[in-house]
Amino acid sequence: MMKEIEELFRNINLAKEVMELSGENPYDCYQCGTCSASCPFIEEMDLKPDEVIRYVILNRKEVLKSKTIWICASCFECAERCPRDINITKLMEALRQIILRKNVDHTEIEKIGEEEKRTIPQIAFVSLFRKNVG
Ligand code: SF4
Ligand code: SF4
Repeated sequence: MMKEIEELFRNINLAKEVMELSGENPYDCYQCGTCSASCPFIEEMDLKPDEVIRYVILNRKEVLKSKTIWICASCFECAERCPRDINITKLMEALRQIILRKNVDHTEIEKIGEEEKRTIPQIAFVSLFRKNVG
């Protein structure tokens, strides 16, 4: 999947795309970590929300294969607490949109291990399917 992601998104500038899609400016982030500290799904994520933003700024395409952007349940906790008034929820949505526009299937439910199925909150699954079926 990483090779596919690299190929598909080689020419894009993540920060620019995210800004266009979400209207949010990732460069406003000063990496305080408040978003990650507020996120109820942090334990299930492979990148913390503040790391997602850092990856976007650094144009690190690995962020597009992160579980985090699909685990995010769009609960707005992070957005409400960000001292820089960045709507991280919208930023996560923009990253999903970047992928979905290329028709990359990220549901991949069959690849989720048994342990993860037991521990990932049900709302995250509901959110995942909702996001993938539009
Ligand atoms: S809370 Fe806001 S400023 Fe702090 S790390 Fe998260 S996005 Fe950046
Ligand atoms: S909107 Fe997503 S990243 Fe933000 S607190 Fe909720 S689940 Fe976490």
